[in-house]
Amino acid sequence: MNTIASLKAFKILDSRANYTISVEINGIEGIAPAGASTGSHEIPYIDPEKAINYINKTLSTKLKGDIIEQKNLDIYLRNLADKIGGNGSIATSFSIYNNLWNLNIFLNNNQKNIFPFPLANVIGGGKHSGLMDIQEILVLPKKAKTFPEAVNTARNIYHEIGEYLKEKKMNYGMNDEGAHITPLPQEKALELAEETAKKHNAKIGIDMAASELWNQNLNKYIYPNSNKKLDPGEQIDYILDLIENYHLIYVEDPLHEEDFIGFSEILKKSNKTMITGDDLTTTNTSRIHKAIKNKSINSIIIKPNQIGTVTDTKEAVELSKKHNIIPVISHRSGETHDTTISRLSLDLETPIIKAGIADIRTVKLNWLTKQWNKTENPKMNKICIK
Ligand code: PGA
Ligand code: ZN
Repeated sequence: MNTIASLKAFKILDSRANYTISVEINGIEGIAPAGASTGSHEIPYIDPEKAINYINKTLSTKLKGDIIEQKNLDIYLRNLADKIGGNGSIATSFSIYNNLWNLNIFLNNNQKNIFPFPLANVIGGGKHSGLMDIQEILVLPKKAKTFPEAVNTARNIYHEIGEYLKEKKMNYGMNDEGAHITPLPQEKALELAEETAKKHNAKIGIDMAASELWNQNLNKYIYPNSNKKLDPGEQIDYILDLIENYHLIYVEDPLHEEDFIGFSEILKKSNKTMITGDDLTTTNTSRIHKAIKNKSINSIIIKPNQIGTVTDTKEAVELSKKHNIIPVISHRSGETHDTTISRLSLDLETPIIKAGIADIRTVKLNWLTKQWNKTENPKMNKICIK
């Protein structure tokens, strides 16, 4: 039995030069990422300094000598939310998970040879900076036969789009997730992404992050860059038009985070698209139950830091799979060199990993690429959407 000999928290920088928490148990690290377009039902974050103080002064003494075991320690962490926040909790839970991974102790007894498809943000806006109201235009290389081939396809599409924009003097650099920033109107950006993806046998999708556009008082979705003001019915029609016009395979948070019924209307009318909850569900099983009851989604974003522990993440994935909801494990816009979600994608067999294609995000893809090459008989997962 392995026990906790040392537990220490550190204040380190993330990709936005904001401070975040790194926790090392027996020298093995877990780091909290951070969102910018966070859902209101996510587990609250606290000041990293406060969490780090508590971890180093109190938690480390309390847990010293304890057996390294995921579930019991996660249950303990769950009750410390006010002391260490979701950020302190997920960093500690990731560190436990990474310790166990190194000891060949996993959440599941599968072979870890089923790899996810990468879903890559190529043109960006919304809360991640940019000039577009759609937060992310994403590519999914769903025809790729291997993980390295899938990454290469996403990379080629990303570069081709970048070069085209540069030629037209419409490339304004990269945003928080390494996606291209462009002043092109969003429909033109979608057209460009779709045409480029098509050449590479890939499909495109979007993250609307619609809670960021929603104005409760006006009862409208307000698009600051494209000058649109849509009531909920018009927003649904607009999303359905985008799905049809750009053959979207994936649509995340098309409506605000409380509109379970509106989501179900979109799902009903779009049977070949992954209608995905992110802020809607926040990796939280009670919200997933609500989405199941309302038939709101057929796909779900899984962000471990929305719920605070690896055990809760596992439960969210299992519940979703049981109800044929495709889990998409995901990074946050504020990222670090942590690769825990890459390991989780194999352990939990999530068919898709959403982890960008450029900047610091590549550590997660690179970990999987190397793992593909080290694994006996690796296979791509199946996505049950045409
Ligand atoms: P966030 O955005 O990490 O900034 O919350 C990502 C997303 O909405 O999917
Ligand atoms: Zn999202």
